[in-house]
Amino acid sequence: MPINIEEIRSQFPVLHQEVNGKPLVYFDNAATTQKPFSVMQAINGYYELDNSNIHRGAHTLADRATRYFENTRTAVKNFINAKEDAEIIFTKGTTESINLVAATFGRMEIGKGDEIIISTMEHHSNIVPWQMLSKEKGAILKIIPISEAGEIDIENFKKLLTEKTKLVSIVHVSNALGTINPVEEIIKLAHEVGAKVLLDGAQSTNHLEVDVQKLDCDFLAFSAHKLYGPTGLGVLYGKREILENMPPYQGGGEMIKEVSFEKTTYNDIPFKFEAGTPNIADVIAFGKAIEFIEELGKKAIKQHEDELLNYATKALNDIKGFIPVGTSKEKVSVISFNINGMHPFDVGMMLDANGIAVRTGHHCTQPLMQRLGLEGTVRASFSVYNTKSEIDQMVTSVAKIAKIKNK
Ligand code: PMP
Repeated sequence: MPINIEEIRSQFPVLHQEVNGKPLVYFDNAATTQKPFSVMQAINGYYELDNSNIHRGAHTLADRATRYFENTRTAVKNFINAKEDAEIIFTKGTTESINLVAATFGRMEIGKGDEIIISTMEHHSNIVPWQMLSKEKGAILKIIPISEAGEIDIENFKKLLTEKTKLVSIVHVSNALGTINPVEEIIKLAHEVGAKVLLDGAQSTNHLEVDVQKLDCDFLAFSAHKLYGPTGLGVLYGKREILENMPPYQGGGEMIKEVSFEKTTYNDIPFKFEAGTPNIADVIAFGKAIEFIEELGKKAIKQHEDELLNYATKALNDIKGFIPVGTSKEKVSVISFNINGMHPFDVGMMLDANGIAVRTGHHCTQPLMQRLGLEGTVRASFSVYNTKSEIDQMVTSVAKIAKIKNK
């Protein structure tokens, strides 16, 4: 069923405002999506009615808050089709999820001379933790090259894999280019040499059906705020047998079974990895964000976003001086571009003057920009609440801006 765009937009108060005297066009969804009423109400509702600490209270409010909190864990489990709730760990975001794996699995499993493989198009949060670990352990970080169109070079990836490869950590969908990587094939190939695979799902979980059992990934990291949910909250999925063998991440309350000065025994998963009082309100609200997505259906969302992507790509490509960056056929609703003769930051400022919010710069992918020989790009990223008429506004503005240097 096609989506009812006006009904959807009515759930997002932030969209209904003027910026610089123009109706806001929010095309910075790859940075963070806006939040529907239901998410904001859930945050308020928790503090108004249920505020209490979870998992240990012997009173009604604590029971209620615990139930709501754990309901979100189940919703996340279903959302990515994990086998069980215990495989879902709440973190601060994709960044912390990846750091958690580096600090636990990485420290335990990766030693001197072992190899970690990432790609040229990784976000800094899937580069730096592995560089830090490699330095600490004397491991080797290998990089999969990409094509000019912004696609993984699978043949080269095959050559990088050896029996020393312990982990392949790869972005499912590029935040800078929108490329959808062939992760099923990557996972299969990595498993053939006995390596584990972490998927950075920050940009895939909101656009694609992500089924961890079908993909057979060992870890999946993603952030709630790119899924219409709150900021500072994320998920680490891991297969039970791997999580159980990993040492804890942080020490503190909640993650223990028993503590004495001589010895501590750790809690079962997922609690072993959730030390301290968690972000209760935001976890509860994240449940509402998942509900929002599931009520619309990922298929319908993707269909709408693809329509916007194709419509915008066609119109922008007709503009003199428009240079697309990342032209893979397999991509989500992200358009990275430059305007001949202009700095991306200036283009972004001019679009903002017209009420159009885009991201400019290196998008936390400096090595990717270096590979493409660019300082940065302008990035427009579309979400379920965006419309063709908003794209028309952007195309008109980009055409005017491009004319300054491309007569
Ligand atoms: N990976 C990718 C592909 C991303 O797009 C982002 C967010 N820009 C991150 C990781 C980091 O997410 P967070 O800042 O929410 O931890």
